[in-house]
Amino acid sequence: MTSSKNLSGQTVLVTGASRGIGRAVALTLAKEGAEVVVNYSNSPDKANEVVHLITSSGGKAYSLKANIAEEDAVKELMDSILEKSGQIDVLVNNAGITRDGLLMRMKMEDWKSVIDLNLSGVFLCTRGVARSMIKQKKGRIINITSVVGLMGNGGQANYAASKAGVIGLTRSAAKEFASRGITVNAVAPGFISTDMTKDLEAEQILSSIPLGQFGTPDQVAGVVRFLAADSAAAYMTGQVLQVDGGMVMS
Ligand code: NAP
Repeated sequence: MTSSKNLSGQTVLVTGASRGIGRAVALTLAKEGAEVVVNYSNSPDKANEVVHLITSSGGKAYSLKANIAEEDAVKELMDSILEKSGQIDVLVNNAGITRDGLLMRMKMEDWKSVIDLNLSGVFLCTRGVARSMIKQKKGRIINITSVVGLMGNGGQANYAASKAGVIGLTRSAAKEFASRGITVNAVAPGFISTDMTKDLEAEQILSSIPLGQFGTPDQVAGVVRFLAADSAAAYMTGQVLQVDGGMVMS
């Protein structure tokens, strides 16, 4: 654990924290002193490994299974956290999937499963933490969107729509919650080395990244840590921070 503990005494929920970016965010925020709720859906062993890594270095964490795309499961998740920890100070909406395919051939189930998790899941979790954050007059909500939500991508109409939707949701929630002491921001990664991107044609993609390489989960987690910290990002809300090696410059 590091000596600077920006999040001591705070409880953080990271959705989809068993692998990839969510895992890195969980480990990074735990180092800042937060108690981390490691949400997972299908990978209990990996989620428990994240918890073990945190607790064995003196941090606080526990894992909770919930399919974030399901309203009842999200309600149960929030109730369990409030019962166990009493509060949720930071929500990181990270859980996400891809079901790629050309628009003309895209099956309704592939459209729906991506929208249900990547967009409706963010809505459900945001609504789920709002009451507790409003009561505390304080909270941070950080949504993991994607540069694809800004620029679109052939073969990813469902994913791009979900991530563009997250940006609209972020800005609307930021406006609704600003007077309640809650900030809502988004992080838009470019190509990050995780299970999600492991089957992509790297060479073709690298030519579109000015910094010439894929990013790491830790590089995304560093920006999430900045947005979660009490003082550093206190005057930012409704913003989308890109972590994309320069892919999208606007
Ligand atoms: P990943 O390695 O595939 O990990 C996805 C995580 O989401 C896993 O922990 C998985 O948990 C969880 N998850 C999947 N379905 C879930 C559900 N129904 N309920 C709860 N959790 C669920 O993906 P990643 O690359 O780390 O991506 C994380 C986020 O960053 C996503 O929102 C993604 O869209 C976004 N992003 C990624 C990139 C990139 O290049 N990698 C770029 C831009 C944005 P289980 O295994 O336990 O199911």
